Amino acid sequence: MFLFSGFGFSSAQAQPATQPAVDITQVPPAAQPSAHFNADAATEAYMAMIPPAAKTRSDAYFEGGYWLILWDFLYSSAVCLLLLELRWSARMRDLAERISRYKPVQTFVYWIEYVVLIAVLGFPLEFYENFVREHQYGLATQSFGPWMGDEGKALLVNMVLGGLAAVLLFAIVRKLRKTWWIWGSIAAIVLAVVAVAIGPVFLQPIFNKVTRLNDPKITVPILRMAHANGIPANDVYQIDASRQTTRMSANVSGFANTMRITLNDNLLRRGSPEEIQSVMGHEMGHYVMNHIPKFLFFLSVVISISFAYLYWGLGWALKRFEARWEIRDVSDPAVLPLAALMAGILFFVLTPVMNNVTRMQEKEADMFGYNAARQPDGFAQAAIHLSEYRKMRPGRLEEWIFYDHPSGYDRIHSAMIWKGENLELFEKTPSQPAAQ
Ligand SMILES: [Zn+2]
Repeated sequence: MFLFSGFGFSSAQAQPATQPAVDITQVPPAAQPSAHFNADAATEAYMAMIPPAAKTRSDAYFEGGYWLILWDFLYSSAVCLLLLELRWSARMRDLAERISRYKPVQTFVYWIEYVVLIAVLGFPLEFYENFVREHQYGLATQSFGPWMGDEGKALLVNMVLGGLAAVLLFAIVRKLRKTWWIWGSIAAIVLAVVAVAIGPVFLQPIFNKVTRLNDPKITVPILRMAHANGIPANDVYQIDASRQTTRMSANVSGFANTMRITLNDNLLRRGSPEEIQSVMGHEMGHYVMNHIPKFLFFLSVVISISFAYLYWGLGWALKRFEARWEIRDVSDPAVLPLAALMAGILFFVLTPVMNNVTRMQEKEADMFGYNAARQPDGFAQAAIHLSEYRKMRPGRLEEWIFYDHPSGYDRIHSAMIWKGENLELFEKTPSQPAAQ
Protein backbone atom coordinates (compact mmCIF):
# COMPACT_ATOMS: atom_id res chain seq x y z
CA MET A 1 0.00 0.00 0.00
CA PHE A 2 2.86 2.32 0.82
CA LEU A 3 4.53 1.74 -2.54
CA PHE A 4 1.28 2.30 -4.35
CA SER A 5 0.59 5.61 -2.62
CA GLY A 6 4.23 6.61 -3.03
CA PHE A 7 4.33 6.26 -6.77
CA GLY A 8 0.92 7.83 -7.15
CA PHE A 9 2.47 11.20 -6.42
CA SER A 10 5.56 10.92 -8.57
CA SER A 11 3.90 12.83 -11.41
CA ALA A 12 4.17 16.08 -9.43
CA GLN A 13 7.37 17.73 -10.65
CA ALA A 14 9.80 19.31 -8.22
CA GLN A 15 9.48 23.06 -8.56
CA PRO A 16 9.09 25.99 -6.21
CA ALA A 17 5.59 26.74 -4.91
CA THR A 18 3.66 28.85 -7.41
CA GLN A 19 3.55 32.48 -6.33
CA PRO A 20 0.42 34.52 -6.83
CA ALA A 21 0.80 36.38 -10.12
CA VAL A 22 -0.69 39.54 -8.66
CA ASP A 23 0.58 41.67 -5.78
CA ILE A 24 -1.45 40.36 -2.85
CA THR A 25 -0.64 43.43 -0.74
CA GLN A 26 -2.87 45.50 -3.09
CA VAL A 27 -6.36 45.39 -1.61
CA PRO A 28 -8.62 44.24 -4.50
CA PRO A 29 -11.38 46.74 -5.52
CA ALA A 30 -14.17 44.53 -4.12
CA ALA A 31 -12.48 44.56 -0.70
CA GLN A 32 -12.01 48.37 -0.60
CA PRO A 33 -14.18 50.27 1.88
CA SER A 34 -17.33 51.54 0.19
CA ALA A 35 -21.03 51.99 0.80
CA HIS A 36 -21.75 48.67 -0.93
CA PHE A 37 -18.97 46.63 0.72
CA ASN A 38 -19.94 42.96 0.66
CA ALA A 39 -17.96 40.36 2.64
CA ASP A 40 -18.76 37.51 0.20
CA ALA A 41 -17.64 39.52 -2.82
CA ALA A 42 -14.52 40.76 -0.99
CA THR A 43 -13.63 37.16 -0.07
CA GLU A 44 -14.07 35.97 -3.66
CA ALA A 45 -11.85 38.84 -4.87
CA TYR A 46 -9.07 37.63 -2.58
CA MET A 47 -9.65 33.98 -3.53
CA ALA A 48 -9.32 34.96 -7.20
CA MET A 49 -5.75 36.13 -6.54
CA ILE A 50 -4.63 32.51 -6.18
CA PRO A 51 -3.66 31.19 -9.63
CA PRO A 52 -5.57 28.02 -10.62
CA ALA A 53 -2.30 26.06 -11.02
CA ALA A 54 -1.27 26.93 -7.46
CA LYS A 55 -4.70 25.91 -6.18
CA THR A 56 -4.57 22.54 -7.96
CA ARG A 57 -1.14 21.90 -6.57
CA SER A 58 -1.84 22.78 -2.93
CA ASP A 59 -5.17 20.92 -3.00
CA ALA A 60 -3.30 17.81 -4.17
CA TYR A 61 -0.66 18.27 -1.48
CA PHE A 62 -3.22 18.74 1.28
CA GLU A 63 -5.53 15.92 0.17
CA GLY A 64 -2.50 13.63 -0.08
CA GLY A 65 -2.02 14.42 3.60
CA TYR A 66 -5.42 12.83 4.38
CA TRP A 67 -4.23 9.55 2.85
CA LEU A 68 -0.94 9.78 4.68
CA ILE A 69 -2.83 9.68 7.99
CA LEU A 70 -4.17 6.29 6.87
CA TRP A 71 -0.88 4.99 5.43
CA ASP A 72 1.03 6.08 8.56
CA PHE A 73 -1.47 4.26 10.72
CA LEU A 74 -1.47 1.05 8.64
CA TYR A 75 2.28 1.03 8.18
CA SER A 76 3.14 1.58 11.86
CA SER A 77 0.51 -0.98 12.90
CA ALA A 78 2.09 -3.51 10.52
CA VAL A 79 5.54 -2.80 11.97
CA CYS A 80 4.23 -3.36 15.53
CA LEU A 81 2.57 -6.66 14.52
CA LEU A 82 5.78 -7.75 12.80
CA LEU A 83 7.78 -7.16 16.00
CA LEU A 84 5.25 -9.23 17.96
CA GLU A 85 4.63 -12.05 15.48
CA LEU A 86 8.32 -12.63 14.69
CA ARG A 87 8.98 -12.37 18.46
CA TRP A 88 11.66 -9.73 17.78
CA SER A 89 10.26 -7.79 20.71
CA ALA A 90 10.87 -10.78 23.05
CA ARG A 91 14.41 -11.19 21.60
CA MET A 92 15.16 -7.49 22.23
CA ARG A 93 14.00 -7.97 25.82
CA ASP A 94 16.25 -11.03 26.19
CA LEU A 95 19.20 -9.01 24.91
CA ALA A 96 18.45 -6.18 27.36
CA GLU A 97 18.37 -8.74 30.20
CA ARG A 98 21.76 -10.11 29.19
CA ILE A 99 23.24 -6.61 29.27
CA SER A 100 22.06 -5.71 32.79
CA ARG A 101 20.24 -7.30 35.69
CA TYR A 102 18.72 -3.98 36.81
CA LYS A 103 15.14 -3.53 35.65
CA PRO A 104 15.39 0.22 34.88
CA VAL A 105 18.53 -0.36 32.79
CA GLN A 106 16.81 -3.24 30.99
CA THR A 107 13.87 -0.96 30.16
CA PHE A 108 16.23 1.74 28.87
CA VAL A 109 18.21 -0.72 26.73
CA TYR A 110 15.00 -2.22 25.34
CA TRP A 111 13.81 1.31 24.48
CA ILE A 112 17.02 2.07 22.55
CA GLU A 113 16.68 -1.17 20.56
CA TYR A 114 13.00 -0.45 19.96
CA VAL A 115 13.31 3.13 18.66
CA VAL A 116 16.28 2.26 16.45
CA LEU A 117 14.44 -0.68 14.89
CA ILE A 118 11.27 1.40 14.43
CA ALA A 119 13.33 4.18 12.82
CA VAL A 120 14.92 1.70 10.40
CA LEU A 121 11.69 -0.10 9.50
CA GLY A 122 9.76 3.17 9.28
CA PHE A 123 12.40 4.92 7.19
CA PRO A 124 10.87 4.33 3.72
CA LEU A 125 7.62 6.06 4.67
CA GLU A 126 9.40 8.75 6.69
CA PHE A 127 11.72 9.47 3.74
CA TYR A 128 8.87 9.67 1.25
CA GLU A 129 6.59 11.71 3.48
CA ASN A 130 9.03 14.24 4.88
CA PHE A 131 11.69 14.45 2.19
CA VAL A 132 10.60 13.28 -1.27
CA ARG A 133 7.07 14.63 -1.09
CA GLU A 134 8.08 17.95 0.50
CA HIS A 135 10.57 18.48 -2.33
CA GLN A 136 8.02 17.46 -4.99
CA TYR A 137 5.76 20.24 -3.78
CA GLY A 138 8.54 22.80 -3.42
CA LEU A 139 8.12 23.11 0.34
CA ALA A 140 11.49 21.72 1.46
CA THR A 141 14.78 23.60 1.44
CA GLN A 142 17.12 20.92 2.83
CA SER A 143 19.31 18.58 0.83
CA PHE A 144 19.53 14.95 1.93
CA GLY A 145 22.56 15.33 4.26
CA PRO A 146 21.20 18.06 6.55
CA TRP A 147 17.76 16.40 6.49
CA MET A 148 19.29 13.13 7.70
CA GLY A 149 21.19 15.15 10.31
CA ASP A 150 17.90 16.46 11.71
CA GLU A 151 16.41 12.96 11.63
CA GLY A 152 19.42 11.69 13.58
CA LYS A 153 19.06 14.45 16.17
CA ALA A 154 15.36 13.69 16.59
CA LEU A 155 16.21 10.02 17.09
CA LEU A 156 18.76 10.91 19.78
CA VAL A 157 16.27 13.13 21.61
CA ASN A 158 13.72 10.31 21.42
CA MET A 159 16.27 7.82 22.77
CA VAL A 160 17.16 9.94 25.80
CA LEU A 161 13.87 11.63 26.75
CA GLY A 162 11.65 8.77 25.58
CA GLY A 163 13.95 6.31 27.36
CA LEU A 164 13.67 8.19 30.66
CA ALA A 165 9.87 8.31 30.28
CA ALA A 166 9.77 4.56 29.53
CA VAL A 167 11.91 3.78 32.61
CA LEU A 168 9.55 5.80 34.81
CA LEU A 169 6.32 4.37 33.35
CA PHE A 170 7.48 0.73 33.46
CA ALA A 171 8.64 1.20 37.08
CA ILE A 172 5.10 2.37 37.89
CA VAL A 173 3.58 -0.66 36.13
CA ARG A 174 5.91 -3.03 38.04
CA LYS A 175 5.22 -1.48 41.46
CA LEU A 176 1.48 -0.76 41.16
CA ARG A 177 -0.07 -3.78 39.47
CA LYS A 178 -3.71 -2.81 39.94
CA THR A 179 -3.56 0.98 39.75
CA TRP A 180 -0.74 1.65 37.27
CA TRP A 181 -3.09 3.21 34.76
CA ILE A 182 -4.00 5.96 37.27
CA TRP A 183 -0.42 6.70 38.40
CA GLY A 184 0.87 6.18 34.89
CA SER A 185 -1.48 8.81 33.50
CA ILE A 186 -0.50 11.26 36.25
CA ALA A 187 3.17 10.68 35.43
CA ALA A 188 2.49 11.05 31.70
CA ILE A 189 0.63 14.33 32.25
CA VAL A 190 3.54 15.70 34.29
CA LEU A 191 5.96 14.61 31.54
CA ALA A 192 3.80 16.33 28.90
CA VAL A 193 3.81 19.60 30.88
CA VAL A 194 7.59 19.39 31.36
CA ALA A 195 8.10 18.65 27.65
CA VAL A 196 6.01 21.69 26.64
CA ALA A 197 7.83 23.90 29.16
CA ILE A 198 11.37 22.92 28.12
CA GLY A 199 10.54 22.72 24.40
CA PRO A 200 11.26 26.30 23.29
CA VAL A 201 14.33 26.67 25.51
CA PHE A 202 16.04 23.29 25.24
CA LEU A 203 14.56 21.30 22.36
CA GLN A 204 13.91 23.82 19.58
CA PRO A 205 17.55 25.11 19.61
CA ILE A 206 18.75 21.57 18.81
CA PHE A 207 17.22 21.93 15.34
CA ASN A 208 17.03 25.67 14.68
CA LYS A 209 18.53 28.95 15.71
CA VAL A 210 16.12 31.00 17.81
CA THR A 211 17.10 34.64 18.29
CA ARG A 212 15.58 37.84 19.62
CA LEU A 213 14.11 39.89 16.81
CA ASN A 214 15.91 43.23 16.60
CA ASP A 215 14.14 45.19 13.88
CA PRO A 216 12.16 48.01 15.55
CA LYS A 217 10.04 48.43 12.39
CA ILE A 218 8.66 44.97 13.12
CA THR A 219 8.93 44.75 16.90
CA VAL A 220 7.54 48.17 17.93
CA PRO A 221 4.01 47.64 16.52
CA ILE A 222 4.01 44.04 17.80
CA LEU A 223 5.08 45.00 21.33
CA ARG A 224 2.54 47.86 21.40
CA MET A 225 -0.13 45.33 20.47
CA ALA A 226 1.19 42.93 23.14
CA HIS A 227 1.14 45.57 25.89
CA ALA A 228 -2.31 46.78 24.84
CA ASN A 229 -3.57 43.21 25.30
CA GLY A 230 -2.00 42.51 28.69
CA ILE A 231 0.97 40.48 27.48
CA PRO A 232 4.04 41.40 29.57
CA ALA A 233 6.47 40.60 26.75
CA ASN A 234 9.47 42.75 25.84
CA ASP A 235 10.87 40.41 23.25
CA VAL A 236 9.69 38.77 20.08
CA TYR A 237 11.65 35.75 18.86
CA GLN A 238 12.50 34.63 15.36
CA ILE A 239 13.42 31.17 14.18
CA ASP A 240 15.38 30.22 11.04
CA ALA A 241 12.67 27.86 9.76
CA SER A 242 13.95 28.48 6.20
CA ARG A 243 16.66 25.96 7.07
CA GLN A 244 14.03 23.25 6.54
CA THR A 245 11.00 24.72 4.78
CA THR A 246 9.48 27.52 2.71
CA ARG A 247 6.34 27.53 4.88
CA MET A 248 5.42 30.79 6.59
CA SER A 249 4.32 30.47 10.18
CA ALA A 250 4.48 31.76 13.73
CA ASN A 251 3.62 30.16 17.02
CA VAL A 252 3.19 30.50 20.74
CA SER A 253 5.15 27.89 22.65
CA GLY A 254 6.19 27.05 26.19
CA PHE A 255 4.43 27.04 29.51
CA ALA A 256 4.55 29.54 32.40
CA ASN A 257 8.01 31.18 32.34
CA THR A 258 8.99 29.81 28.95
CA MET A 259 5.85 30.99 27.13
CA ARG A 260 6.86 33.08 24.10
CA ILE A 261 5.80 34.20 20.65
CA THR A 262 8.06 33.23 17.75
CA LEU A 263 7.86 34.31 14.10
CA ASN A 264 9.57 32.27 11.45
CA ASP A 265 11.97 33.95 9.05
CA ASN A 266 9.86 33.03 5.99
CA LEU A 267 7.04 35.16 7.39
CA LEU A 268 9.46 38.01 8.15
CA ARG A 269 10.95 37.88 4.66
CA ARG A 270 7.80 37.48 2.60
CA GLY A 271 5.05 39.04 4.70
CA SER A 272 3.98 42.69 4.52
CA PRO A 273 3.97 44.62 7.84
CA GLU A 274 0.14 44.36 7.88
CA GLU A 275 0.34 40.62 7.36
CA ILE A 276 2.92 40.15 10.12
CA GLN A 277 0.79 42.22 12.52
CA SER A 278 -2.35 40.23 11.71
CA VAL A 279 -0.51 36.95 12.34
CA MET A 280 0.88 38.30 15.61
CA GLY A 281 -2.65 39.31 16.65
CA HIS A 282 -3.66 35.69 16.12
CA GLU A 283 -0.71 34.36 18.14
CA MET A 284 -1.47 36.81 20.96
CA GLY A 285 -4.97 35.36 21.05
CA HIS A 286 -3.44 31.97 21.88
CA TYR A 287 -1.42 33.65 24.59
CA VAL A 288 -4.14 35.77 26.19
CA MET A 289 -6.73 32.97 26.11
CA ASN A 290 -4.26 30.52 27.70
CA HIS A 291 -4.63 28.03 24.90
CA ILE A 292 -1.54 26.01 25.85
CA PRO A 293 -2.60 25.38 29.48
CA LYS A 294 -6.16 24.67 28.28
CA PHE A 295 -4.89 22.25 25.68
CA LEU A 296 -2.73 20.53 28.30
CA PHE A 297 -5.84 20.13 30.43
CA PHE A 298 -7.66 18.55 27.49
CA LEU A 299 -4.59 16.38 26.86
CA SER A 300 -4.72 15.21 30.49
CA VAL A 301 -8.21 13.87 29.86
CA VAL A 302 -7.06 12.15 26.66
CA ILE A 303 -4.01 10.67 28.43
CA SER A 304 -6.16 9.33 31.29
CA ILE A 305 -8.59 7.75 28.82
CA SER A 306 -5.65 6.23 26.90
CA PHE A 307 -4.15 4.67 30.02
CA ALA A 308 -7.50 3.22 31.13
CA TYR A 309 -7.95 1.83 27.61
CA LEU A 310 -4.42 0.37 27.65
CA TYR A 311 -5.01 -1.21 31.08
CA TRP A 312 -8.09 -2.95 29.75
CA GLY A 313 -6.80 -3.61 26.23
CA LEU A 314 -3.37 -4.95 27.17
CA GLY A 315 -4.97 -7.27 29.73
CA TRP A 316 -7.36 -8.56 27.08
CA ALA A 317 -4.68 -9.08 24.41
CA LEU A 318 -2.09 -10.62 26.74
CA LYS A 319 -4.59 -13.21 27.99
CA ARG A 320 -4.86 -14.45 24.42
CA PHE A 321 -1.43 -13.89 22.91
CA GLU A 322 1.22 -13.66 25.63
CA ALA A 323 2.52 -17.20 24.97
CA ARG A 324 2.56 -16.69 21.21
CA TRP A 325 4.43 -13.39 21.47
CA GLU A 326 6.55 -14.52 24.47
CA ILE A 327 5.54 -11.50 26.53
CA ARG A 328 5.56 -12.32 30.26
CA ASP A 329 3.12 -9.73 31.51
CA VAL A 330 2.21 -6.06 31.24
CA SER A 331 5.38 -4.94 33.08
CA ASP A 332 7.62 -6.68 30.51
CA PRO A 333 9.15 -4.06 28.17
CA ALA A 334 8.49 -6.49 25.30
CA VAL A 335 4.83 -5.37 25.56
CA LEU A 336 5.76 -2.01 24.02
CA PRO A 337 4.87 -2.79 20.36
CA LEU A 338 1.47 -4.04 21.55
CA ALA A 339 0.92 -0.84 23.57
CA ALA A 340 2.03 1.23 20.56
CA LEU A 341 -0.34 -0.70 18.29
CA MET A 342 -3.29 -0.15 20.62
CA ALA A 343 -2.47 3.53 21.21
CA GLY A 344 -2.14 3.96 17.43
CA ILE A 345 -5.66 2.61 16.90
CA LEU A 346 -7.07 4.94 19.57
CA PHE A 347 -5.37 8.05 18.19
CA PHE A 348 -6.31 7.17 14.61
CA VAL A 349 -9.96 7.09 15.70
CA LEU A 350 -9.49 10.29 17.74
CA THR A 351 -8.04 12.23 14.75
CA PRO A 352 -11.23 14.27 14.12
CA VAL A 353 -11.69 14.92 17.84
CA MET A 354 -8.15 16.27 18.25
CA ASN A 355 -8.56 18.36 15.06
CA ASN A 356 -11.84 19.82 16.26
CA VAL A 357 -10.43 20.87 19.62
CA THR A 358 -7.42 22.50 17.95
CA ARG A 359 -9.51 24.14 15.24
CA MET A 360 -11.83 25.63 17.86
CA GLN A 361 -8.83 27.28 19.56
CA GLU A 362 -7.49 28.47 16.21
CA LYS A 363 -10.86 30.05 15.39
CA GLU A 364 -10.82 31.83 18.76
CA ALA A 365 -7.31 33.10 18.06
CA ASP A 366 -8.45 34.34 14.62
CA MET A 367 -11.31 36.31 16.15
CA PHE A 368 -9.02 37.75 18.83
CA GLY A 369 -6.48 38.64 16.15
CA TYR A 370 -8.95 40.64 14.01
CA ASN A 371 -9.73 42.84 16.99
CA ALA A 372 -6.18 43.13 18.29
CA ALA A 373 -4.37 43.79 15.00
CA ARG A 374 -7.21 45.42 13.01
CA GLN A 375 -5.57 44.17 9.82
CA PRO A 376 -8.21 42.10 8.02
CA ASP A 377 -6.46 42.61 4.68
CA GLY A 378 -3.16 41.54 6.21
CA PHE A 379 -4.90 38.42 7.46
CA ALA A 380 -6.28 37.71 3.99
CA GLN A 381 -2.72 37.99 2.64
CA ALA A 382 -1.56 35.51 5.28
CA ALA A 383 -4.33 33.08 4.31
CA ILE A 384 -3.21 33.32 0.69
CA HIS A 385 0.40 32.63 1.66
CA LEU A 386 -0.70 29.66 3.78
CA SER A 387 -2.64 28.36 0.77
CA GLU A 388 0.73 27.19 -0.56
CA TYR A 389 0.37 24.15 1.68
CA ARG A 390 -3.29 24.15 2.72
CA LYS A 391 -6.44 23.55 0.72
CA MET A 392 -8.44 26.81 0.73
CA ARG A 393 -12.01 25.67 0.23
CA PRO A 394 -12.82 22.22 1.66
CA GLY A 395 -16.24 20.63 1.96
CA ARG A 396 -17.92 20.92 5.35
CA LEU A 397 -17.35 17.29 6.40
CA GLU A 398 -13.80 17.43 5.05
CA GLU A 399 -13.08 20.47 7.20
CA TRP A 400 -14.66 18.83 10.25
CA ILE A 401 -12.56 15.67 9.96
CA PHE A 402 -9.19 16.88 8.70
CA TYR A 403 -8.67 20.57 9.50
CA ASP A 404 -6.78 21.63 12.61
CA HIS A 405 -7.14 25.28 11.52
CA PRO A 406 -10.11 27.07 9.93
CA SER A 407 -9.87 26.80 6.15
CA GLY A 408 -8.33 29.66 4.19
CA TYR A 409 -11.72 30.57 2.76
CA ASP A 410 -13.26 30.70 6.23
CA ARG A 411 -10.39 32.85 7.49
CA ILE A 412 -10.61 35.42 4.69
CA HIS A 413 -14.40 35.44 4.94
CA SER A 414 -14.50 36.13 8.68
CA ALA A 415 -11.76 38.79 8.24
CA MET A 416 -13.93 40.46 5.56
CA ILE A 417 -17.02 40.30 7.78
CA TRP A 418 -14.97 41.98 10.50
CA LYS A 419 -13.81 44.60 8.02
CA GLY A 420 -17.38 45.21 6.85
CA GLU A 421 -18.43 45.96 10.42
CA ASN A 422 -15.46 48.29 10.96
CA LEU A 423 -15.29 50.14 7.65
CA GLU A 424 -14.70 53.52 9.32
CA LEU A 425 -11.17 52.28 10.26
CA PHE A 426 -10.28 51.94 6.59
CA GLU A 427 -11.73 55.12 5.09
CA LYS A 428 -9.26 57.55 3.55
CA THR A 429 -8.84 59.88 6.54
CA PRO A 430 -8.13 57.66 9.53
CA SER A 431 -7.72 59.17 12.97
CA GLN A 432 -4.11 59.61 14.10
CA PRO A 433 -2.76 56.66 16.10
CA ALA A 434 -1.33 57.38 19.55
CA ALA A 435 2.43 58.01 20.04
CA GLN A 436 4.37 56.16 17.34
ZN1 LIG B 1 -2.80 29.48 15.78
